[in-house]
Amino acid sequence: MKIGIVGAGQLAQMLALAAIPIGIEVLCLAEDNTKPAATVTDIFIGELNSPQKLHEFAEHVDVITYENENIPVDAIRSLAEIVPVYPSIKALQTTQDRLLEKQLFDRLNIPTVKYAAIDSMADLQQASEHIGLPAVLKTRRFGYDGKGQYRLANEDDCQSAWKTLGEHPLIFENFIAFETEVSLISARDQLGNTHYYPLIENMHKDGILRLSYAPWQNNTLQAQAERYAQRLLDELDYIGVMTIEFFVVNNQLLANEIAPRVHNSGHWTINGAATSQFENHVRAISNLALGQTGCLAPSAMINMIGELNDRDEVLKIPNAHFYDYAKSPRPNRKLGHINLVDHDKKRLQASIDKIQTIKC
Ligand code: AMP
Repeated sequence: MKIGIVGAGQLAQMLALAAIPIGIEVLCLAEDNTKPAATVTDIFIGELNSPQKLHEFAEHVDVITYENENIPVDAIRSLAEIVPVYPSIKALQTTQDRLLEKQLFDRLNIPTVKYAAIDSMADLQQASEHIGLPAVLKTRRFGYDGKGQYRLANEDDCQSAWKTLGEHPLIFENFIAFETEVSLISARDQLGNTHYYPLIENMHKDGILRLSYAPWQNNTLQAQAERYAQRLLDELDYIGVMTIEFFVVNNQLLANEIAPRVHNSGHWTINGAATSQFENHVRAISNLALGQTGCLAPSAMINMIGELNDRDEVLKIPNAHFYDYAKSPRPNRKLGHINLVDHDKKRLQASIDKIQTIKC
């Protein structure tokens, strides 16, 4: 069995690291062999706009998945003519456009923010009157880590936001003064069996995830999130791991977005869950049974952004695990993460605090 992964970043690297011990080979498609996954698996060098290369890549593997939703649907469709591609093209198409995603939430009765499609300054003025300010203006496509977003506090901001983002199709969302942000990671196999991880609490700064904590214990909202996920998985004929990000406001969930893949907020599962999100994605797309998704102990994940913390010092913390993606440092770039797992919540918090004091 050989899995093809479109992309060779850190998510592909961690998928490969989960596949190898269960006897599944991995081949990643990338433009060069300098990406994180190249440290652990083979790279098929080719570009997504080369039909011939795509064809050759597909002929080398049994099933294909992708690590990033910002890829051309046509390229994935041409791969799917040769081998199965999971998650479905429907999932990819929907999740790469924030407007389609929000419309899907509406259709499935999943509460979300108030929103409007924006294609002109007139649309923007109308939305700011009808939905109101403050708000967030976002590009419909290709946004990640807070990129392509503009906070709107007043009418003047609308003018400058339009100047910055106006050449793209946009979406206007009301600003949610959330209590916290959580994510639900689910996995669905080829027989339709579904497993859910416990809700994860996520702390962002400047639109970039900094810290995740699991489990976020709230039985009512866990059940609610699972019901929403089930509707999405069914509607999208989903196979693999899927993540939904929610805002929590007035003890209710408001869906923000879906990632059709393993997710940064689930990296703690490598050490803190019975089966990691990476292994469960590999199992699902390889037609194997899913593994259990329970939390082994309270866990945290801290992203290392822009620079790595001193590894030797981090590893002196007894409950810490260090992951270096082998990427060159750049401001705001995710270079690695630290997982912390501890039955003792106070000690877990002390370790989180200690990491903040370790220099880079
Ligand atoms: P996103 O790319 O949509 O996940 O946005 C990145 C981060 O920006 C989110 O995790 C939130 O912290 C914040 N954010 C995005 N949309 C909104 C919103 N409508 N209201 C308040 N905060 C938001």
